[in-house]
Amino acid sequence: MPRSQRYKCIICGRVFPEGQGIVIKYGKTLLTFHSNRCASKFLRLVLERVPPEELEKYIKRIVDEQEEKIRSLEEIKKKKI
Ligand SMILES: [Zn+2]
Repeated sequence: MPRSQRYKCIICGRVFPEGQGIVIKYGKTLLTFHSNRCASKFLRLVLERVPPEELEKYIKRIVDEQEEKIRSLEEIKKKKI
């Protein structure tokens, strides 16, 4: 019987089974986090290291998209009342 895949958290080194934690394939790199806390730590590192000139336009777009999503959800709620 095949053993389920196990991953090692790149932040703290904890080993976790497939289906738990967060596994993200980014290009050729596999990013594995055993918890949200380790994923947040990684996000913070990325934001600190990547110059805003490179990343900010993408971040801004995501923020705008999310704001739009929240706004339309609020519209739906208002209509239901
Ligand atoms: Zn971890």
